[in-house]
Amino acid sequence: MTVPQKRPAEDLTVTALDNRIAEEPALNGHSNGANGHAVSSLPTLDASKITITRADPNARTVPTEAEANSGNETICTDHMITVSWTAAKGWANPELKPYGPLSLMPTASVLHYATECFEGLKAFRGYDGKLRLFRPDCNAERMLMSTLRISLPGFDPKELEKLIEILMSVDGPKWLPKERAGSFLYIRPAVIGTQPQLGVQAPKEALLFITASFMPRMDLPEGGMKLHTNPEDMIRAWVGGFGYAKVGANYGPSLLATAEARSRGFGQILWLYGPEGYCTEAGASNFFMLWRTKEGQLQLVTAPLDDKLILDGVTRRSVVQLARERLAGELEVVERKYTIDEVLEADKEGRIVEAFAAGTAFFICPVSEIHHRGIDVKIPMGKEGKIGHYTAKLKGFVGDIMYGNEQHPWGVVIQEQE
Ligand SMILES: *Cc1c(COP(=O)(O)O)cnc(C)c1O
Repeated sequence: MTVPQKRPAEDLTVTALDNRIAEEPALNGHSNGANGHAVSSLPTLDASKITITRADPNARTVPTEAEANSGNETICTDHMITVSWTAAKGWANPELKPYGPLSLMPTASVLHYATECFEGLKAFRGYDGKLRLFRPDCNAERMLMSTLRISLPGFDPKELEKLIEILMSVDGPKWLPKERAGSFLYIRPAVIGTQPQLGVQAPKEALLFITASFMPRMDLPEGGMKLHTNPEDMIRAWVGGFGYAKVGANYGPSLLATAEARSRGFGQILWLYGPEGYCTEAGASNFFMLWRTKEGQLQLVTAPLDDKLILDGVTRRSVVQLARERLAGELEVVERKYTIDEVLEADKEGRIVEAFAAGTAFFICPVSEIHHRGIDVKIPMGKEGKIGHYTAKLKGFVGDIMYGNEQHPWGVVIQEQE
């Protein structure tokens, strides 16, 4: 039997992804997707169908931030949301229920073949008393992209966004109370393949779940973030790989180098790529250099998205957009490939102004040093040695939206159930 070819064989992955999207009714709104693929009539992810089982509100007290972050276990809020999916029955009704263990068979796909992807976003208690998410639509869309990349089931990202809002509307008032203005909780949606069958294949069962938890503040480490470039025998992601997707498979293998860098006094790895040594990301954060060009132009430079090596960070995107909108007269924003040799040269010529990592976990975190093959590049950290002028400015723009000092469409207010 011959399979009709819609695209050249070289485009197998692109074709597979297109077909998955075409089959997903929530993403099409038609009975037939693109390519004439039959659209499934099975139940889609639907937040309005949620069932709610409440935890005893007095069973657990809310720890202080310091207490919550002092142990070896992430402290989650009272509730979590789970939604199961099977190829035969589609998405089940979402469940909001007390936080607790999941039940999985030892043969579950995720435990053997890394069929897992995740998201990370924060809920912020504003200085105006309101609870906000920051651009949750971006996280929901990215999670759909990651999910499809590892053959897990598609869904309407708007429904995922609604589920996140429901969890925070229930747990926000108690776990991120109004007295804690300026604090945040960390929200972790994930999808895993749960089919209990060994064999390398796309899972026919999956589970989407969402938790909310404490997470330490990591945006102002003493002396700034120190980066160590990756060892020559290890890369994080590669062209044609999946560095652009937030899949668990990207992270486990990076821990070896990160642990080694930590033992040498560095916080994160600056991941370089290729024989040219292109600067890509800092740990699991995007990376920005602020320097003067040889011509004297102040330039904020960060790695591009088009080769799909790096993650399209929501923080990165926001920094790029706000810098272009609000600092246009002072600096130029450039998304391009740049090498570690360019960084070393700029250092020699005294052109480095600042550097920072940007991501949900580290927020906008000043970088004070890059160590590369025996050379230490020291990076200015502002007048008081804590954070540079432009890094602070950009952090202020984004932070003001998160904590409601500035009303902005990116700050999505949650209606709380009190
Ligand atoms: C999550 C992540 C980022 C940051 O993305 P945000 O959306 O800003 O949190 C950057 N790089 C990698 C590899 C990541 O996993």
